Amino acid sequence: MQGCFFIGEKFIFMWNNLYPDLYLNSIYELEPQFLKDKGIRGIILDMDNTLVPWGSMDIDPEMIKWIKYLKDEGFRLCVVSNNSPVRGENLSSQVGLPGVWNANKPLRKAFRRALKKMELRPEETAAVGDQVFTDVLGGNRLGLFTVLVPQLTSKDFVWTRIMRRLEKIVLRRINTEKVEEK
Ligand SMILES: [Mg+2]
Repeated sequence: MQGCFFIGEKFIFMWNNLYPDLYLNSIYELEPQFLKDKGIRGIILDMDNTLVPWGSMDIDPEMIKWIKYLKDEGFRLCVVSNNSPVRGENLSSQVGLPGVWNANKPLRKAFRRALKKMELRPEETAAVGDQVFTDVLGGNRLGLFTVLVPQLTSKDFVWTRIMRRLEKIVLRRINTEKVEEK
């Protein structure tokens, strides 16, 4: 897929940066051993519609268990969210994870801050999230191993709803390639 995006005169990204390294049907399918085999020691997690439904703070007990499981497997974890510190700290305290808020993904700054908190390099880190244009794009721009997971609910921030339409085009392309690979 050739091409690139510009905002104003600023070069932003290549199409290829929209492709996740891994596309799962559920976040729970993420295999610790698979990541370890790739030399990955830390995971950056998106918050809204990845760990908790958008607009809600009701984290599924299953998700809490899954986070604990990843910690027990030895992974360093950090939440990176475009949402506010108030909402972020609420989640942080529930799951006992550090976080970076008001992240402005897909900008790389917040991902870099997360790497610093985890004391890891990009090649040792995965980024997991439900959005192509924030989580995947931002992670790929920094050279992280990017994992796209389905959104937990169809509810979204209004801007996200617009971006989802573009996202569908990318996802359709990924799905087509998946089928072609088989
Ligand atoms: Mg999200």
